[in-house]
Amino acid sequence: MPSGNIPERLFTPKNIGPMRVKNRLCMAPIGGLLPLDGTVPQRFKDFCLARARGGVGMMVLTSVDFTHLDVPIQSAVADSVAHELRALVESLHEHDVRVGVQLHHSGRQIPAVSIPGYEATAASPLAWSPRSPVPRQLTADEIEDLIARHVAATVRVRDAGFDFVEVKACHGYLLSNFLSPHSNRRTDRFGGMLENRARLTLEIIKGIRRELGQVLSICCRLNGADFVPGGLTIEDAKALAPLFVEAGADFLSVSAGVYGSYPVIVAPYDAAPGYLVPLAEAIKSQVDVPVVTVGRITDPSMAEDVLKRGEADIVALARALIADPDWPNKARRGELDNIRPCIGCNQGCQDVVPGWSLTCLVNPAAAREREMEIVPAPSSKKVLVVGGGPAGLEAARLAALRGHIVILCEKETELGGQWRLAAVPPYKLEFTRYLSYQIRQLEQLKVRIRLGEEGRTAVAREQPDVVVVATGATPAKPAISGVKRDNVVTAWDVLAGQAKVGNQVLVVGGNRAGLEVADFLAVRGKKVTVVERGERAGADLGPTVRWHLRRHLSEDGVAILVSTRVEAIATDGVTVNKSGVREILRDFDTVVLACGATSQCGLVGLVGPNIKEVYVIGDAVRPRHAVDAVREGAEVGLKI
Ligand code: SF4
Repeated sequence: MPSGNIPERLFTPKNIGPMRVKNRLCMAPIGGLLPLDGTVPQRFKDFCLARARGGVGMMVLTSVDFTHLDVPIQSAVADSVAHELRALVESLHEHDVRVGVQLHHSGRQIPAVSIPGYEATAASPLAWSPRSPVPRQLTADEIEDLIARHVAATVRVRDAGFDFVEVKACHGYLLSNFLSPHSNRRTDRFGGMLENRARLTLEIIKGIRRELGQVLSICCRLNGADFVPGGLTIEDAKALAPLFVEAGADFLSVSAGVYGSYPVIVAPYDAAPGYLVPLAEAIKSQVDVPVVTVGRITDPSMAEDVLKRGEADIVALARALIADPDWPNKARRGELDNIRPCIGCNQGCQDVVPGWSLTCLVNPAAAREREMEIVPAPSSKKVLVVGGGPAGLEAARLAALRGHIVILCEKETELGGQWRLAAVPPYKLEFTRYLSYQIRQLEQLKVRIRLGEEGRTAVAREQPDVVVVATGATPAKPAISGVKRDNVVTAWDVLAGQAKVGNQVLVVGGNRAGLEVADFLAVRGKKVTVVERGERAGADLGPTVRWHLRRHLSEDGVAILVSTRVEAIATDGVTVNKSGVREILRDFDTVVLACGATSQCGLVGLVGPNIKEVYVIGDAVRPRHAVDAVREGAEVGLKI
């Protein structure tokens, strides 16, 4: 059932070089799926196939690093995997999608893991950060060899059946490293003036065109700006774009940022949707080939407007497609309300830790398409889900999708649990879109929702076959003298609008909850100090969200004291211990506790022996991130 205007321009075919694309939607290259050993895992294939089935017109497969063929890190187009890729491309073609692959060389931004034989090389011997290795400067002969390797790789790309190749000259990797005056200090023909810095990329594009003629389309992906001091600017990029086209590029894809400004590349929720579109528009004004834009474009109407206004010709989606592989088909049918929205949280797809592999907060099946396939339950059961937070909502949705009779009870008068509070801090209003989506899905699936009802009452009345305990957590109160004083409140009370807060505020706890409530209060004109017992504030945040949040806090004048433990709260001030030195912080009229949470799982003991299937999920097990809660909800929903 259509729930919005059908974005017709998005579904207009486009000729790009020798290929015809059925619509204007491209899956941007998505990292975190290919291992560094050069293999092509099944989950990568399943991920791509799900997006091809979902209706995207073209897709760019990411590549690890094709130039180091003598070490395990190799390209998605290395000889050893060519046959597997050929089969993958053939299966993608069955869905009328045009498939490209990136030609990638990491340069000085080498993978986080250390691999023997893998050497950081670059235009100049400049490390990208104080903690990264100083790269070896490439010689002119080595650069010529790299040009030849790129061209040779493109022959393999063609032989594997790809429709286009993307020359990756963005994000600070090797070609981008040469383009930027910030990182290229050479004085030979590959450094200095813009045309020299562009020579490596230009020679690669020319070489591919010479070798392959018009068989493949060539894309050049460049930065509209580096966003580091002395880096590539939009004026540089505007000058470069016609050179790339003249060299043989059939289309240009415009992104931004380098590792030194990494949070710009995949900006989280505080960046405006389509935040990189102006860069694409500026590049488009300089060339007469199609231009691809990217960057937090999650709404089909917005994508349509970008095309209508002539700001770009193709819209690339990355996170939007991680969140919902069927985004294009749903948009084409006008089912805009049924698109599961990416909320820009970066919790599963970007903010990585060692050993991370791609997932998604709102779509736990991302990159687990096979194991999380939704299949009908062998028999329909009566399932009571207790708790309407992120874990309970997802468990209820999947259980209902599989044919169970689902009742969801929530003791509050609204669904959402902690998620409602998570959407309150600055820039996070978009989080409500996911809650609205989940509620709409439950309504469509005829899940019976009981608001204002305790789990114990619901269990007694419904006598279900299965109980899912998703009762969440409550704010923890540390054992500090004075914690029960009237001027001590919790971050949850503040965000719920249930606390009176003075003008001078001390926040106890500098993890996500503490920093977000500090931001919330600071933008309301409060003078805020955060004390964190650990060595670093925001330690539970991923790098992109931490970077942006710390920037906002700094702009808002929030003071952060680390390695500082609160010992007592009294009338005359708050006693803290900073690395063994005791001090009294004075003049605070409100103390806000953001000291973690305590699980609420008391219902488990009250369920009774008649109910054989009982599951506990989310924060009711142990307070963690929302991405964990939703994943557990999904896993239980698929298991019942
Ligand atoms: Fe979007 Fe968050 Fe999912 Fe990433 S993890 S795709 S940012 S919803």
